[in-house]
Amino acid sequence: MNFDANFRMLIEGKLEVGHASLEVLNPATEKVLAHVPDATPDDLGRAVDAARKAFPSWAATPLEERKAKLRALGDALMANAEPLARLLSSEQGKPLAEATMEVMGSGYWLHAYTSLDLPVTVNEDSAERYSETRHVPVGVVGAIAPWNFPLLLAMFKVPPALLAGNTVVLKPSPFTPLTTLKFGELAAQILPPGVLNIVTGGDNLGPWMTSHPGIDKISFTGSTQTGRRVMASAAATLKRVTLELGGNDAAIVLPDVDVEQVAPQLFWAGFLNNGQVCIAAKRVYIHKDVYEPLKAAIVAYAKQVKVGEGTADGTQLGPINNRPQYNRVLDLIQDAKDKGCKFLLGGEKHSGPGYFVLPTIIDNPPESSRIVQEEQFGPVMPLIRFDDIDDVIARVNGTDFGLAGSIWSKDEDKAYAIAQRITSGTVWINEIQHLSPLAAFGGMKQSGIGVEGGLEGLLEYTSSQTITRRKQAAAAG
Ligand code: NAD
Repeated sequence: MNFDANFRMLIEGKLEVGHASLEVLNPATEKVLAHVPDATPDDLGRAVDAARKAFPSWAATPLEERKAKLRALGDALMANAEPLARLLSSEQGKPLAEATMEVMGSGYWLHAYTSLDLPVTVNEDSAERYSETRHVPVGVVGAIAPWNFPLLLAMFKVPPALLAGNTVVLKPSPFTPLTTLKFGELAAQILPPGVLNIVTGGDNLGPWMTSHPGIDKISFTGSTQTGRRVMASAAATLKRVTLELGGNDAAIVLPDVDVEQVAPQLFWAGFLNNGQVCIAAKRVYIHKDVYEPLKAAIVAYAKQVKVGEGTADGTQLGPINNRPQYNRVLDLIQDAKDKGCKFLLGGEKHSGPGYFVLPTIIDNPPESSRIVQEEQFGPVMPLIRFDDIDDVIARVNGTDFGLAGSIWSKDEDKAYAIAQRITSGTVWINEIQHLSPLAAFGGMKQSGIGVEGGLEGLLEYTSSQTITRRKQAAAAG
């Protein structure tokens, strides 16, 4: 498909320019990349009405037909991966190769969900009674996505919501709406009008969605702080919520690791997508026996990583996505400096345009420092020395977050025993950030409510309905 330079919302199958517009910047240059519609409450209202109107017939569409549409959407994404990835790299900042993986991964997510079915549980089938529990769609789903993986994280929501028979109003982040709007152009050719609507806008649009009485469920991915607001607002109309929120994931490195082998893995555990990954290793606890050599190996590796504009050849790390996040990361760096922390790498301010922060590694900051306690969501890695496993587990768990974590050791059984003591929704052993559309993923504690992925994730887009039938023969008897 030939994408033009216009970006339009998708409402009831039609592409709309809206009445006002918002600027979208390229984070590598801070220049305006494009304009997108700034939706009004009326625009949102029409998108919700369209979704409500489309709901009965979409819910009644046979499951196999809904699956075929999802597969076609996945095919369309993959067939257009090249232009979409270029656009994604320009609006998000990530290297082109990673943007391509995100687009292809989004297609894969759309395809993979079609292997799932909605189960029916037979509760009783006796002489007197037949009772079953089935799963029916909740209605209109409001899907709200963040800016770090704009397309992929929208595809954590749209396929299961549509597969279950719901219709959707999707809102991308105002920092990264472009690829999602082009996805909308593809969807307009595949889905019936109103089944998927895409609206873009500023800071008010999310709260308008969470308080809209025509939306039955909010599926939200973003920060814990915003997640609390979403839940409070959704409470007024008792909307269902799935919240995928922030984290402060720890990596625990045991003394038996092969230092040279794990150094690059740990670097990317923290720095992939410039650290703007909810499940990045945000605190790296290293056993004292390997602390010095591993710290040196991570720093040596980090020094040869190429930082630049995402679309430039050879770039491995791009800029931070937006000015508020850039300022937040600089603030955390300054705080670590003020506290007298030792910087093994980075920490200097970048001169010139773009929200660039060079990879920054901090040597054993105090446990109480902000860079250890808060989610940095940027290219700053604190390396922390430990000598007692019980003590480190207590430190790892001593946070309100509980998204994910990782254990690194040659002894898989020992690592598994530690993993079971970590209070987070996912723990990886000797790998990190492996997610599957067919496995449940979600946060414990204040990292979220509910899960995405797998049958459990699909069922979050349904209500259980139990139908009980008293058999006539039994009634007569
Ligand atoms: P954010 O919370 O600022 O914004 C997320 C989305 O919510 C955006 O679309 C935004 O416009 C919208 N929004 C803002 N205020 C709102 C409100 N009051 N009501 C409804 N919607 C509102 O998050 P972000 O900065 O875009 O993303 C970074 C955060 O997301 C990090 O904390 C990261 O850990 C988290 N995250 C979590 C996961 C996960 O799966 N758990 C995945 C990716 C990112």
